[in-house]
Amino acid sequence: MSIDRHRPLSIGISLLITAVLVVLSARSFQVQHRDEVLYPSDGLTRAFPLSEVNPHLAGTAGDTEVYVYEGSAPGGSVLVLGGTHPSEIAGYMAPVLMIETLHVEAGRVFIIPRANASAATHNEPQEAHPQHIVIETAGGSRSFRFGARFTNPVHQWPDPEVYVQPISGTTLAGVEIRNLNRAFPGIADGNLTERVAWAITELIRRESIDVSFDIHESSPEYPVINAIVASEVSQEIASFATISLQLDGWEFSLEPSPPNFHGLSHREWTDHTDTQPILLETANPAMGRLRGPTNAELAVLGQDDQYVKAAAIGAINVPFDEEGISIERRIARDLVAIGAIVEAFNMLNPERAILMGGWPEPAALMEDGLGRYLAPARDGTSPR
Ligand SMILES: [Zn+2]
Repeated sequence: MSIDRHRPLSIGISLLITAVLVVLSARSFQVQHRDEVLYPSDGLTRAFPLSEVNPHLAGTAGDTEVYVYEGSAPGGSVLVLGGTHPSEIAGYMAPVLMIETLHVEAGRVFIIPRANASAATHNEPQEAHPQHIVIETAGGSRSFRFGARFTNPVHQWPDPEVYVQPISGTTLAGVEIRNLNRAFPGIADGNLTERVAWAITELIRRESIDVSFDIHESSPEYPVINAIVASEVSQEIASFATISLQLDGWEFSLEPSPPNFHGLSHREWTDHTDTQPILLETANPAMGRLRGPTNAELAVLGQDDQYVKAAAIGAINVPFDEEGISIERRIARDLVAIGAIVEAFNMLNPERAILMGGWPEPAALMEDGLGRYLAPARDGTSPR
């Protein structure tokens, strides 16, 4: 009988705990669907939604902002794509830093920091990734979402058993149908990921963009790492840039874009546009299989004892010591590579030179930290 008397109380407590969990998880779910506010530098000349290029994106979770910086002098044009895979956090933060510091004197620079905006709204299941990273700025802390590799299934579902790429006919695992970097050149009215891919490819064509960057990260044990990936049409600028970077003491390898690996940005932009495509890849221990505890600190500081041990026995492809590979170091690598490749383009195409800058020197970025160069947080703009 005494058990019965306590039952209403225990049911009440269970319901209360459930209600609290529902409220907390609903809030954290909602926050992930809200884009962080970015503060473009005064070099920004216009911004427009990608749905202007592909109206089939209007009102969908795939629509995303395109930031444009135009110099007063004519010149060539560059596209910088971040967040193709929003779990590759430096691949998102390098374009964000550009947006907040960039000035262009000649030519035009297009930046899409959240290329797969839907993939930024959730986490990879079972990876224990943080929901966001926090960067301290002069105006307080700013948080940036640590998203997923794939389009959110809330926005594109269900996956097929096998994904047959519509143009090449290549077969891949079903989940790859939500991978933006398998969806190029895209289909204007296809599934959400294909619509985004088509809009980006079409933007390159419509604006006759000369050089297009797609910024990624990967695990330290991945074979193509600290790399500049170039196709046959971008090989020349990439070779010049790699040599000049190596002379400056940066370790970069030059990798060819495989001709039969369809759906990838560099492959399909080569085949379907006139741009010179480049993929950049830095090493992020938060993405690796050998990593220790996974949290926002690992994604930002890039320090991990497991990788120090792995490097000591030659199990990974990048140098790795106690200092780790900080987000500043990874962003600095992306920015010096972009700078060197644009410089090589200018040397070969002086009549279309693109003159741009404004972002911090690598040494200063690594010394002072990212928060010193991002715009200060302003009230109520950094949901936590
Ligand atoms: Zn990637």
